[in-house]
Amino acid sequence: MADLILFWHRRDLRVSDNTGLAAARERSPQVVGVFCLDPNILEKDDVAAVRVTYMIGCLRELQKQYIKIGSQLLIIKNDPVQGIPRLAEALQAQAVFWNWDVEPYSQQRDRQLLTILNSKGIEFLEPNWDQLLHTPDEIRTGSKGIYTVYTPFWKNWSSRAKAAPAPTLTNATGLTEEQERTAISAGAIPLPTASELGFPWDGELILEPGETAAQSRLQEFCDYAINAYQEQRNFPALPGTSQLSPALKFGVIGIRTVWQATEAALENSRSDETTASIHTYQQELAWREFYQQVMYHFPELATGAYREPFKNFPWRNQEQHFQAWCAGNTGYPIVDAAMRQLNETGWMHNRCRMIVASFLTKDLIINPQWGEKYFMQKLIDGDLSANNGGWQWSASSGMDPKPLRIFNPASQAQKFDAEAEYIRQWVPELRSVDTEYLVTGKILPCDRHAVAYPAPIVDHNQQQKLFKELYQKQKQ
Ligand SMILES: Cc1cc2nc3c(=O)[nH]c(=O)nc-3n(C[C@H](O)[C@H](O)[C@H](O)COP(=O)(O)OP(=O)(O)OC[C@H]3O[C@@H](n4cnc5c(N)ncnc54)[C@H](O)[C@@H]3O)c2cc1C
Repeated sequence: MADLILFWHRRDLRVSDNTGLAAARERSPQVVGVFCLDPNILEKDDVAAVRVTYMIGCLRELQKQYIKIGSQLLIIKNDPVQGIPRLAEALQAQAVFWNWDVEPYSQQRDRQLLTILNSKGIEFLEPNWDQLLHTPDEIRTGSKGIYTVYTPFWKNWSSRAKAAPAPTLTNATGLTEEQERTAISAGAIPLPTASELGFPWDGELILEPGETAAQSRLQEFCDYAINAYQEQRNFPALPGTSQLSPALKFGVIGIRTVWQATEAALENSRSDETTASIHTYQQELAWREFYQQVMYHFPELATGAYREPFKNFPWRNQEQHFQAWCAGNTGYPIVDAAMRQLNETGWMHNRCRMIVASFLTKDLIINPQWGEKYFMQKLIDGDLSANNGGWQWSASSGMDPKPLRIFNPASQAQKFDAEAEYIRQWVPELRSVDTEYLVTGKILPCDRHAVAYPAPIVDHNQQQKLFKELYQKQKQ
């Protein structure tokens, strides 16, 4: 009998281009997957039903992939620090392998687990950064410091050679029937539905879960839309971006595979515009890595502002304003369209994420952590590092050399939804209103109640002034 290796899947729900899984298979033919439904994550108050639904869909496909290659993906529901060693011991596994993650909870949990496995004589894989193209310690400034500004990070990051995708797991040996019985008595359960876990999602999933769908999406994007990405990516009414963020969040696509596809698109490029577009897309992949490496090195980002003036900022935090923002009833059409898209689908376009985050923090003067949490409660791609990075950037509280960035919702709408197509799609009561009233901030000429749409809850110009005054005081 070969040595059994348990491969613990976390945010790498795939069999292709999975570096830790490939290392496990190199070590032994008997590789069995395990996924742990972790109450420390699922019982937090920032879990989105749509995200759990997507994740369960990905796990369902992963189970099928394992069966196809001759093995199994086990599911357990327990604190991993107890559940993983229990299963490994019961199955007399030689080793437990997994890929590492940057998040503070994950770091602390994994270190605890290492100590336990060590004490039981169960081997493990040295920290392995499958979800990143470059490890958090690899990209350093000239004086070996950590980059806190994106542009120099990008220059260094993009100048380095990137690894090729890891080999796909194509065949493996699974558990014997007796081992399967042992696994069940050590906690293995059938895969529950999201509803069974307490996260019912009635809506449709706008993105199909799983590895196969993610690969098709990547292929399609790199064959077509990537060529016009630079021109189209800021317009929320257009399908101009890859929508790969949930796939990247749960690792149903490998980052090396994505990079390789962009490099292939570059080779096929026939114009400077196309080449520039593909480079812009690659820069977005670098933003993802930038936020992950700063989260790794500055875990305190997860709990508050990075910049001094924002550490004790006198946020107004009016509950009524917050509720209007959440529901998409602020009286600012572009803000409301975006929030309604989020509430209905679990998705929001990047341009709109920036607009609504600026509006919450700079117009409503509400603590960005409120918005950050609300996003996590709703987003299909909710991810600590990217979400925190986006909110800190929009609030001007994070790692951004620009001291104060304030978006004017009307000029954003005018520039990026000039025909109000996006607004009309998500705020149906405004469908018959003339475009100029939707994108210029002009007060509607008719009685607003006739269109059942609220008057603006604050005045942008006044609030902007107030915010600047508060900021200046904080800086003194
Ligand atoms: C306030 C705010 C909150 C955000 N919250 C999240 C979040 O919870 N999860 C999340 O994945 N992204 C988040 N983002 C980043 C960005 O909005 C999404 O990654 C993007 O909209 C996903 O769409 P896409 O896959 O079509 O992106 P594309 O434009 O196709 O970009 C490709 C990939 O690059 C990465 N990426 C792109 N932009 C960013 C960025 N600014 N920061 C980090 N990674 C990026 C994503 O993985 C994305 O899938 C947030 C941005 C803001 C401003």
